[in-house]
Amino acid sequence: MDEKIYVTKSLLPKYEDYIEEIKSLWESNILTNMGAKHQLLEEKLGDYLKVSQLELVVNGHIALELALQSLGDGVPLSGEVITSPFTFASTTHAIVKSGLTPVFCDINPVDFTMDSTKIEALITERTVAILPIHVYGNVCAVEEIEKIAKKQKLKVIYDAAHGFGVEVKGRGIGTFGDLSCFSLHATKVFNTVEGGCICINQAGYTEKIQAYRNFGMEKGEVEEIGGNGKMHELSAAMGLCNLPLMDEAREKRKVIFERYQEGLASTSVQINPEQTGVTRNFAYFPIVVNPVLCGFRREDILEALEQENIYPRKYFYPLTSQMNCYKGKYRGETPVAEKIAQFVLCLPIYPSLDLAVVDRVCEIISTQSK
Ligand SMILES: *Cc1c(COP(=O)(O)O)cnc(C)c1O
Repeated sequence: MDEKIYVTKSLLPKYEDYIEEIKSLWESNILTNMGAKHQLLEEKLGDYLKVSQLELVVNGHIALELALQSLGDGVPLSGEVITSPFTFASTTHAIVKSGLTPVFCDINPVDFTMDSTKIEALITERTVAILPIHVYGNVCAVEEIEKIAKKQKLKVIYDAAHGFGVEVKGRGIGTFGDLSCFSLHATKVFNTVEGGCICINQAGYTEKIQAYRNFGMEKGEVEEIGGNGKMHELSAAMGLCNLPLMDEAREKRKVIFERYQEGLASTSVQINPEQTGVTRNFAYFPIVVNPVLCGFRREDILEALEQENIYPRKYFYPLTSQMNCYKGKYRGETPVAEKIAQFVLCLPIYPSLDLAVVDRVCEIISTQSK
């Protein structure tokens, strides 16, 4: 391939459509602080994600931080949060930066989300919340997690950064947990360049989150200690332009996803499973290359693909618990996550990806398999 192919490529509207959308900003002169585009995007996104309360923020990481801070009821929360290390650094950083202590729960080897059977053993009197991740858009064991949280009186915040547009039996994935946080970053399925949102499923959070997003201000008074988490109008405008493109983008991803499934069916690599009742977003195409089962290593595929200008990603590797800033600091044994992180590779997938690239990737992996 002449052009370099990466795991993702940002969705962009037509240039003219974006220019048209932002024209009104030169008339209103309102560029940020929850302007007209911000309001409109909040409404439209709420409908699209089928959630009742949604707050836009500047990025997915701040969404997690604000969500964690809002659990505190006025005072900063302290204590432990049960989470998984098989995620982007952001999830663990948000916990630690909020003054909380992560406790690492293992994942299940099938869909790579938190193993709900291992949560209760990690709960102590210091535990305040569970923060699972809908990894690759795979839905966590939401019902089991809800049961545990109710019984143990814990809050649940989902990192739904990968889950945009995913539904469970017609229900938006953002409706699970007390709060669910999405990333609207340029590399994600839907983007506002940088951006994020918090879906609120319990009473009592909205005002706090709105205040934390805007220097602690409520009705003109500074009531809380807050920072700046506001999304500006140029970002919201990008979201307004990209949202109508989502259904077609999803269909294109689906074609690519199924082409990979077909092309890799006869190989020994493990493919991301389908979950019953789940409408997928086809955000990622992870494969697990277990050398014992496959007879080759992830690195063999990586090298072969890189020679052809195709750059898959070891995502997630290393585990957050293995990163230099966290190594050995927090409790929780995660042997399954360790193994998957050693073997997983995310292949390129985005709406405009040429099927010839998909076929070539499958061919290279098949050749290794022989
Ligand atoms: C992208 C991502 C984030 C952070 O979102 P940003 O919008 O980039 O700040 C958090 N968690 C996970 C799992 C992500 O993939």
